[in-house]
Amino acid sequence: MKKRIVVALGGNALGNTAQEQRELVRQTAVPIVDLIVEGHEVVIAHGNGPQVGMINLAFDCGDVPPMPFPECGAMSQGYIGYHLQNAIREELLVRGLNKPVVTIITQVVVDKEDPAFQNPTKPIGSFYSQEQAEKIAEQTGFTMREDAGRGYRRVVASPRPTAVVEDRTVKALIREGQVVITVGGGGIPVIREGDHLEGVAAVIDKDFASEVLAAMIDADYLIILTAVEKIALNYGKPNETWLDKVTVAEMEQYMEEGHFAPGSMLPKVEASVAFAKSGPGRTALVTSLENARDGIAGKTGTHISM
Ligand code: ADP
Ligand code: MG
Repeated sequence: MKKRIVVALGGNALGNTAQEQRELVRQTAVPIVDLIVEGHEVVIAHGNGPQVGMINLAFDCGDVPPMPFPECGAMSQGYIGYHLQNAIREELLVRGLNKPVVTIITQVVVDKEDPAFQNPTKPIGSFYSQEQAEKIAEQTGFTMREDAGRGYRRVVASPRPTAVVEDRTVKALIREGQVVITVGGGGIPVIREGDHLEGVAAVIDKDFASEVLAAMIDADYLIILTAVEKIALNYGKPNETWLDKVTVAEMEQYMEEGHFAPGSMLPKVEASVAFAKSGPGRTALVTSLENARDGIAGKTGTHISM
């Protein structure tokens, strides 16, 4: 039966340089197109950690005017989308499907009262000495923080996404049968000020943005593709246990017991639980790129539902 599926791509689907990315996305496109060939409606979301970091660093050199962080995010959506849409388009044509693939520069609304703004945690950009960092903080108002003994860096907040601005565009293109790439890097974070949307220097977790997207378009599945085939209890320990089918209640219990690393697996589990709770018949699946197809067929991956 035809399903509506959000596929959220992790760092391992894109690689670390533009060249690597252009090669790697050709592989990434294969399981995505497998799902489309089977008749499913697929919407693609992705991360942008290394990419936005590179863009931000490149503008840090002092030879060009400063580039604000939301603009760096928009640039990363552009070039990642460019690679993905071409790779998916070509793979579709190889399978005899002539379907338009499009990337939407996507803004995601965050709440200016989000407590995350009081405690910025995500380091971005270059390393500085304490003295340089203090000067930058004074001149720009940036929050600078010591990063694991390597020097001082700017830190930005990681607020929760509340809504996708380009909501109607995404839905219209899906209805039209187009393959949409959206909320790249978790979306460009914006705060609503009446009719105005103000971009803010922040990082939205792509797992949370993908969940908001999936709930918004009434998806049946949220598939989070990452480096592992399944989610584990006691990950990396001798008593490691891989999870197959799990209920929301069980997952909440495991979260409380501290099984999932914050910043990597925990946001995926939280997003999965939120999606499964967001409406009837909704399932989240966490698996690896290579296992996406078997995952949807119920043969592998970790499935989370009510
Ligand atoms: P992505 O770029 O896909 O978001 P992350 O590195 O942020 O990838 O998160 C995936 C990683 O989380 C896995 O590769 C694994 O090393 C780690 N991880 C932490 N806790 C767990 C767990 N309980 N089960 C499986 N993987 C875990
Ligand atoms: Mg991650």
